[in-house]
Amino acid sequence: MTRPILCWPDPVLLRPAAPVERFDDALAELAREMLDAMYAAPGRGLAAPQVGVALRLFVMDVGWKDGRPEPRVVVNPRLSEPSEERVEREEGCLSLPGFTVLLSRPAEVTIEYQGLDGALRRERLAGFAATCAQHEADHLDGILTVHRLDAAGRASVARALAAVKART
Ligand code: ZN
Repeated sequence: MTRPILCWPDPVLLRPAAPVERFDDALAELAREMLDAMYAAPGRGLAAPQVGVALRLFVMDVGWKDGRPEPRVVVNPRLSEPSEERVEREEGCLSLPGFTVLLSRPAEVTIEYQGLDGALRRERLAGFAATCAQHEADHLDGILTVHRLDAAGRASVARALAAVKART
Protein backbone atom coordinates (compact mmCIF):
# COMPACT_ATOMS: atom_id res chain seq x y z
CA MET A 1 0.00 0.00 0.00
CA THR A 2 1.29 3.44 -0.87
CA ARG A 3 1.27 5.94 1.95
CA PRO A 4 -1.20 8.74 1.27
CA ILE A 5 0.28 12.25 1.06
CA LEU A 6 -1.36 14.80 3.33
CA CYS A 7 -2.39 18.17 1.96
CA TRP A 8 -2.46 21.64 3.46
CA PRO A 9 -3.89 22.56 5.95
CA ASP A 10 -3.38 19.24 7.74
CA PRO A 11 -1.98 20.22 11.17
CA VAL A 12 0.96 17.79 11.05
CA LEU A 13 2.31 19.84 8.10
CA LEU A 14 2.31 22.99 10.19
CA ARG A 15 4.35 22.03 13.24
CA PRO A 16 8.05 21.28 13.76
CA ALA A 17 9.02 17.60 13.58
CA ALA A 18 11.09 15.76 16.21
CA PRO A 19 14.65 14.47 15.66
CA VAL A 20 15.05 10.84 14.63
CA GLU A 21 16.71 8.91 17.46
CA ARG A 22 16.26 5.27 16.45
CA PHE A 23 18.00 4.04 13.31
CA ASP A 24 16.17 0.75 13.05
CA ASP A 25 14.25 -1.38 10.55
CA ALA A 26 11.11 0.69 11.07
CA LEU A 27 12.98 3.83 9.95
CA ALA A 28 14.32 2.05 6.85
CA GLU A 29 10.80 0.82 6.04
CA LEU A 30 9.39 4.34 6.44
CA ALA A 31 12.06 5.71 4.07
CA ARG A 32 11.26 3.00 1.51
CA GLU A 33 7.54 3.78 1.69
CA MET A 34 8.26 7.51 1.35
CA LEU A 35 10.37 6.94 -1.77
CA ASP A 36 7.55 4.79 -3.23
CA ALA A 37 4.99 7.50 -2.49
CA MET A 38 7.28 10.20 -3.94
CA TYR A 39 7.84 8.32 -7.21
CA ALA A 40 4.13 7.46 -7.48
CA ALA A 41 3.03 11.07 -6.92
CA PRO A 42 5.20 11.82 -9.02
CA GLY A 43 7.57 14.14 -7.16
CA ARG A 44 11.26 14.76 -6.52
CA GLY A 45 11.14 15.24 -2.75
CA LEU A 46 8.94 14.19 0.17
CA ALA A 47 9.25 14.93 3.88
CA ALA A 48 7.99 12.65 6.65
CA PRO A 49 5.35 15.12 7.93
CA GLN A 50 3.75 14.91 4.46
CA VAL A 51 2.90 11.27 5.20
CA GLY A 52 1.76 12.11 8.73
CA VAL A 53 5.01 11.22 10.54
CA ALA A 54 6.39 14.11 12.61
CA LEU A 55 10.07 13.13 12.31
CA ARG A 56 13.05 15.00 10.84
CA LEU A 57 13.48 12.87 7.74
CA PHE A 58 13.03 13.49 4.03
CA VAL A 59 13.71 11.69 0.78
CA MET A 60 14.68 13.28 -2.51
CA ASP A 61 15.69 12.21 -5.99
CA VAL A 62 16.35 15.16 -8.26
CA GLY A 63 17.52 13.08 -11.24
CA TRP A 64 14.96 10.33 -11.73
CA LYS A 65 12.64 12.32 -13.99
CA ASP A 66 15.61 12.85 -16.33
CA GLY A 67 16.62 9.17 -16.29
CA ARG A 68 19.44 9.62 -13.72
CA PRO A 69 18.05 8.25 -10.48
CA GLU A 70 19.91 9.29 -7.33
CA PRO A 71 17.67 8.56 -4.33
CA ARG A 72 18.77 10.18 -1.08
CA VAL A 73 17.42 9.52 2.42
CA VAL A 74 18.18 12.51 4.64
CA VAL A 75 17.81 12.20 8.42
CA ASN A 76 18.18 15.06 10.92
CA PRO A 77 19.47 17.57 8.33
CA ARG A 78 21.25 20.81 9.20
CA LEU A 79 21.69 23.42 6.50
CA SER A 80 24.54 25.93 6.68
CA GLU A 81 26.80 28.21 4.60
CA PRO A 82 24.10 29.50 2.23
CA SER A 83 25.59 31.19 -0.84
CA GLU A 84 25.05 34.91 -1.35
CA GLU A 85 23.88 34.12 -4.86
CA ARG A 86 20.19 33.33 -4.95
CA VAL A 87 17.99 31.64 -7.53
CA GLU A 88 14.30 31.96 -8.21
CA ARG A 89 12.31 28.86 -9.06
CA GLU A 90 8.67 27.93 -9.37
CA GLU A 91 8.28 25.41 -6.55
CA GLY A 92 5.55 22.85 -6.51
CA CYS A 93 4.67 20.85 -3.42
CA LEU A 94 2.88 17.50 -3.18
CA SER A 95 0.95 18.93 -0.22
CA LEU A 96 -0.24 21.90 -2.32
CA PRO A 97 -1.33 20.00 -5.45
CA GLY A 98 -1.78 21.84 -8.73
CA PHE A 99 -0.02 24.87 -7.44
CA THR A 100 3.43 26.47 -7.77
CA VAL A 101 4.96 29.43 -5.97
CA LEU A 102 7.89 31.54 -7.23
CA LEU A 103 10.48 31.65 -4.43
CA SER A 104 14.03 32.99 -4.11
CA ARG A 105 16.49 30.86 -2.13
CA PRO A 106 20.29 30.62 -1.81
CA ALA A 107 21.72 28.93 -4.92
CA GLU A 108 24.05 26.68 -2.90
CA VAL A 109 23.94 25.30 0.59
CA THR A 110 25.86 22.82 2.74
CA ILE A 111 23.84 19.99 4.24
CA GLU A 112 24.92 17.77 7.11
CA TYR A 113 22.69 14.81 7.81
CA GLN A 114 22.58 11.20 8.87
CA GLY A 115 21.90 8.26 6.60
CA LEU A 116 19.74 5.29 7.54
CA ASP A 117 22.83 3.78 9.20
CA GLY A 118 23.11 6.82 11.48
CA ALA A 119 26.47 7.85 9.96
CA LEU A 120 27.04 11.57 9.43
CA ARG A 121 27.33 12.89 5.92
CA ARG A 122 28.18 16.34 4.58
CA GLU A 123 27.55 17.60 1.06
CA ARG A 124 27.66 20.92 -0.79
CA LEU A 125 24.49 21.12 -2.87
CA ALA A 126 23.93 23.28 -5.95
CA GLY A 127 21.34 23.53 -8.70
CA PHE A 128 17.96 21.94 -8.23
CA ALA A 129 19.25 19.70 -5.41
CA ALA A 130 19.98 22.80 -3.30
CA THR A 131 16.46 24.17 -3.84
CA CYS A 132 14.85 20.79 -3.19
CA ALA A 133 16.78 20.21 0.05
CA GLN A 134 15.83 23.67 1.35
CA HIS A 135 12.17 23.06 0.45
CA GLU A 136 12.15 19.67 2.20
CA ALA A 137 14.05 20.93 5.25
CA ASP A 138 11.40 23.67 5.58
CA HIS A 139 8.76 20.94 5.88
CA LEU A 140 10.54 19.64 8.99
CA ASP A 141 9.99 23.05 10.59
CA GLY A 142 6.32 23.22 9.59
CA ILE A 143 7.05 25.72 6.79
CA LEU A 144 5.36 25.44 3.39
CA THR A 145 6.18 27.45 0.26
CA VAL A 146 3.25 29.79 0.83
CA HIS A 147 4.67 30.78 4.24
CA ARG A 148 7.80 32.14 2.55
CA LEU A 149 5.87 34.58 0.35
CA ASP A 150 5.72 38.29 1.06
CA ALA A 151 2.35 40.00 1.60
CA ALA A 152 1.75 40.61 -2.14
CA GLY A 153 2.59 37.01 -2.93
CA ARG A 154 0.27 35.73 -0.24
CA ALA A 155 -2.57 37.87 -1.55
CA SER A 156 -2.14 36.45 -5.05
CA VAL A 157 -2.04 32.91 -3.63
CA ALA A 158 -5.21 33.56 -1.63
CA ARG A 159 -6.92 34.72 -4.85
CA ALA A 160 -5.71 31.63 -6.71
CA LEU A 161 -6.88 29.30 -3.92
CA ALA A 162 -10.26 31.00 -3.82
CA ALA A 163 -10.56 30.50 -7.59
CA VAL A 164 -9.73 26.80 -7.19
CA LYS A 165 -12.30 26.47 -4.42
CA ALA A 166 -14.95 28.22 -6.55
CA ARG A 167 -14.45 25.66 -9.33
CA THR A 168 -14.88 22.63 -7.02
ZN1 ZN B 1 6.64 20.37 -0.27
